[in-house]
Amino acid sequence: FDQREGTIWFDGAMVPWREAKIHVLSHGLHYGSSVFEGERAYGGQIFKSLEHTRRLHRSAELLDFRIPFSVDEIEAAKQLVLKTSGLKDAYLRPVAWRGSEMMGVSAQGNTIHLAIAAWEWPSYFDAATKMKGIRLDMAEYRRPDPRTAPCASKAAGLYMICTISKHRAENRGYADALMLDFEGNVAECTGANIFFVQDGVIHTPTADRFLNGITRQTVIELARRRGVEVVERRILPEEMAGFSECFITGSAAEVTPVSEIGPYRFTPAALTKTLMDDYLAEVQPKAAAA
Ligand code: PMP
Repeated sequence: FDQREGTIWFDGAMVPWREAKIHVLSHGLHYGSSVFEGERAYGGQIFKSLEHTRRLHRSAELLDFRIPFSVDEIEAAKQLVLKTSGLKDAYLRPVAWRGSEMMGVSAQGNTIHLAIAAWEWPSYFDAATKMKGIRLDMAEYRRPDPRTAPCASKAAGLYMICTISKHRAENRGYADALMLDFEGNVAECTGANIFFVQDGVIHTPTADRFLNGITRQTVIELARRRGVEVVERRILPEEMAGFSECFITGSAAEVTPVSEIGPYRFTPAALTKTLMDDYLAEVQPKAAAA
């Protein structure tokens, strides 16, 4: 990934992709003091860009550091990166981390760095293929207790468990893994939130102990706009036996139907398809206000 053509915004300068490097004694690498975003541009417009930038700032604050670029400066930098990439549909990855001045748990004075890259990340499958649904494994690890980790932060360190879980799922032939929360309720996937359908009502875990995804919030709004009831609550894994449809949401995953989770089976149907279509319509570039 580091040997591509292109340009990365790095601490305020546009740097050739291959030269956007950091030192091995960076605090972010040793102690996980790093936060990031994942967002998509559609037709040259970044969907909910401001929400992502605000979340990046908030993620850093939760890790006790301040990004030395304002929300407006980051917004402008993202636009520049997208424009320079020449891509209309793209995935954007801002990342902020503590630098290399001090190498210890304490890093009070370390410089905070910010980089932003953009690349192509198509939704590989057409709607018909997607409607077959993906298969999810049950993850071995759980999401941490909010008293154990700042779970509202999109912190790199929190993804260590996700990578282990996703690898295990892939090695067992699944697309991804469903993770439970610290109390054993359904939580989320390794990079996406989860929803279920039962008798025309949508059920989704309350996002007070894992990332309350921007896509999750968008899909809840889209469903309610259609008059569909959305219930946010604790969901026990056994309850999955009673749900007819299931889908996951995320900036990268968009709305992706699920056919299987461990012993439970789902049939992606009308409500999932409606929300897939509504989401794709919602992310389309809006004409600038006159
Ligand atoms: N949970 C996790 C663990 C994630 O990595 C993501 C992707 N950022 C999400 C949920 C969904 O968040 P969003 O819709 O804001 O992309």
